[in-house]
Amino acid sequence: MDTEVLVVGAGPTGMTLANELRLAGVSTVVADRLSRRSELSKAGGVQSRTLEAFDQRGLMESLLGTGNYPTSSGHFAGIPLSPEYSRHRLPWRSVPQVAIEGFLEQHLATQGIHIRRDHELTVLDQDEDGVSATFADSTSLRCRYLVAADGAHSTVRSLLRAGFPGQAGTATVLSADVRLSGADQVASHTWNDDGDWVALFPLGTDSQGREMRRLVVGGPGRSVPRETPITEEEIRDGLRRVFGSRIELLELRYARRLTNAARQVEHYRHGRVLLAGDAAHIHLPLGAQGMNTGIQDALNLGWKLGGVVRGWAPEDLLDTYHAERHPVGAAVLRNVQAQSLLMDWVGTRAPEVLAAKELFATMTRLPEVQRHLGDLLSGMAIRYEMPGSGTHPLVGRSAPDLALGPVRSHELLRSGRGVLLDPADRFAKVADLWSDRVDRAGQGADTEPMLIRPDGYVCWAGDPDDLEAALGRWFGAPR
Ligand SMILES: Cc1cc2nc3c(=O)[nH]c(=O)nc-3n(C[C@H](O)[C@H](O)[C@H](O)COP(=O)(O)OP(=O)(O)OC[C@H]3O[C@@H](n4cnc5c(N)ncnc54)[C@H](O)[C@@H]3O)c2cc1C
Repeated sequence: MDTEVLVVGAGPTGMTLANELRLAGVSTVVADRLSRRSELSKAGGVQSRTLEAFDQRGLMESLLGTGNYPTSSGHFAGIPLSPEYSRHRLPWRSVPQVAIEGFLEQHLATQGIHIRRDHELTVLDQDEDGVSATFADSTSLRCRYLVAADGAHSTVRSLLRAGFPGQAGTATVLSADVRLSGADQVASHTWNDDGDWVALFPLGTDSQGREMRRLVVGGPGRSVPRETPITEEEIRDGLRRVFGSRIELLELRYARRLTNAARQVEHYRHGRVLLAGDAAHIHLPLGAQGMNTGIQDALNLGWKLGGVVRGWAPEDLLDTYHAERHPVGAAVLRNVQAQSLLMDWVGTRAPEVLAAKELFATMTRLPEVQRHLGDLLSGMAIRYEMPGSGTHPLVGRSAPDLALGPVRSHELLRSGRGVLLDPADRFAKVADLWSDRVDRAGQGADTEPMLIRPDGYVCWAGDPDDLEAALGRWFGAPR
């Protein structure tokens, strides 16, 4: 073997995974076909759950320190969600993907992981013992497992002939990174009476301190083939229709057309090859859910793959990656499709769509609806099915951040190991059997006992009789 794991693709998914594998003590190569990192802003922000995961790894402060990233409460189908109803410690932050990628690449480099650039995977072959990968320059590499984090047009997915069912794109809108004048007080989404709409999101400031924005322009008659060249005049026209002369385009940096294609692979695991991020699911970028879902795929997969490679976890722990993340990806696709319909993304102006949109807009004024949608788009609503881990309401959810004397419980996850909170100091004996994989902490703290997986999800709480089984299920056989 040349390396234990080969990660194909150095986007946010691949780099997050490489960091998780590093924590798990696994030798990892990250290969990307680009000769240097993309400078496109791409996804516009990080959800509460993603921020929380960065915090659990001790990376959040330094990530947020790389720029001036405003908080936001987000939107659902273009209807703003009020910060007043958010129930999460870390609100959404408008950190553009380009900043996250730069940060992760630098962090990996400081840990000795350097992306192998100009490495385009073209062929792969797997057998019982491992995977052989060949690159466009005819070099090859042998690894025990390969993870496809190679994006929406995944080569690995094609080579596997993996089923990628879903909906083909039926319409496009225009998306651009711009500088504007007069856009300071504008809502995230604005429609005119003819159904033309403009969405605006902050992208922070450029190197000269000037405000950059993501602009999306849609509406009836706006859908054209994806390859149609985009002109400044098309953008000016879109702005004029919605805002008159109030907002002006000062500079266009980058533009592309987005389609409403929505697909998801049938299986996240193909033997020794696993798919993550956009390689596994694509959909409209409403709420930057693609990047966040990809990062969270990586967090779910990293420690499990690490455990299998290191030998303490049974092979079937890897199957829980598909079991847990496929339903999350499917739910994201569904909420994006619902948003697309409810905001009339395509610009149909169909009476039944407009009626649903109007009714939905009224409903979103209800605090409980606001809270529900806020939870959905924060990533905090995720609850994994964990058979055999008990039925306590905390099981399957991301662990609360608890004050344990001088430390917070989330800080205990920095090592990438499991954590058993044992406030009554009664589980020392059983915990000792897993002490090479799980840290016991929180003695004397004002909390209930719980077992937290390395990805920050509670996998046992409640009945003490279930603890040993949960330790075995998630952390392998006792020492
Ligand atoms: C141009 C663009 C604009 C976007 N705009 C938005 C937006 O406005 N809002 C939003 O929410 N989301 C947006 N997205 C989607 C969002 O960026 C993705 O959800 C996110 O990038 C997914 O991360 P990933 O790491 O899974 O895949 P990617 O970020 O796509 O990374 C995949 C990596 O794999 C590499 N790769 C591909 N094939 C190979 C191969 N054969 N061998 C080696 N390396 C390979 C690529 O070079 C790339 O670096 C955009 C995506 C793109 C591509």
